[in-house]
Amino acid sequence: MIKIKDIYIAHEKGLEPVAPIAKEAIEEVMSCFPAFKEAYPITVLGNWESEHLRTASDGKLLLEAYESTNWYIGQAAQQAISDGRASGIKLNNRKIKVNGQISIDSLYDNLSRDPYAKRIPQIQILLTKHDLYGTQSNGRLLNFCLGVSKEDAFSIVSTARFIRPDGVFDQEGFKTVVMHEFGHAIGLTREGRINTYEQLGPHCADENCIMQQRLDGDFSDITRRRLIFKAHDLPPICPDCITEGEKFFRRSLAKALIRDFNIRNR
Ligand SMILES: [Zn+2]
Ligand SMILES: [Zn+2]
Repeated sequence: MIKIKDIYIAHEKGLEPVAPIAKEAIEEVMSCFPAFKEAYPITVLGNWESEHLRTASDGKLLLEAYESTNWYIGQAAQQAISDGRASGIKLNNRKIKVNGQISIDSLYDNLSRDPYAKRIPQIQILLTKHDLYGTQSNGRLLNFCLGVSKEDAFSIVSTARFIRPDGVFDQEGFKTVVMHEFGHAIGLTREGRINTYEQLGPHCADENCIMQQRLDGDFSDITRRRLIFKAHDLPPICPDCITEGEKFFRRSLAKALIRDFNIRNR
């Protein structure tokens, strides 16, 4: 099969140990669609910077628009400061320090305009260690969110809420949310599908499926169910989600074939 799209995992500095966990999560969802696994190679880009990034005379990195993961995070931090959600931002070379949350709306808008994504077909998974806040589709501001996705384009996931009070990282909880967000990116709960309900966007009504959304945003029960299913060699998503995903991948394959045909005949 041809390559349909790359899946790129990019993250802030410091999340290096978490990137392989996110990759595993995506591989686990992709294993529900064995026919399309090879068509979506997964690459960890790390704390991504383009080759166009320049350094100022004082050695500081110039954060040019769209040219690094840090630029996206910096924009989201600046938005948070003007929304009163964060108090300070320090950009020292390749590190960003923000006191408070960062704006998921800013990340969403900027990723939607990503010029690289327009040139290189991709689904980007952006991981941030900062806590996120954002606006619901009805205009209400959310205190926090774990992530958000745009179909066939990207997922954004924060690790902030998975650090337990004892400092231990809740690896399985984080994995569930990465899978869930990636599930949105591959259209598992798209509008008009059967067996869905509206809770911060359409979600799956199957009580043992990771594409559910609890009102309080708690994924611990969903994670527990996922792990029991996994122990019995059952997939993290339900049959309805698998059917919808297969439709998504067939549509994507058809679009990729048209794209490649057009490129050859240009
Ligand atoms: Zn969701
Ligand atoms: Zn489902």
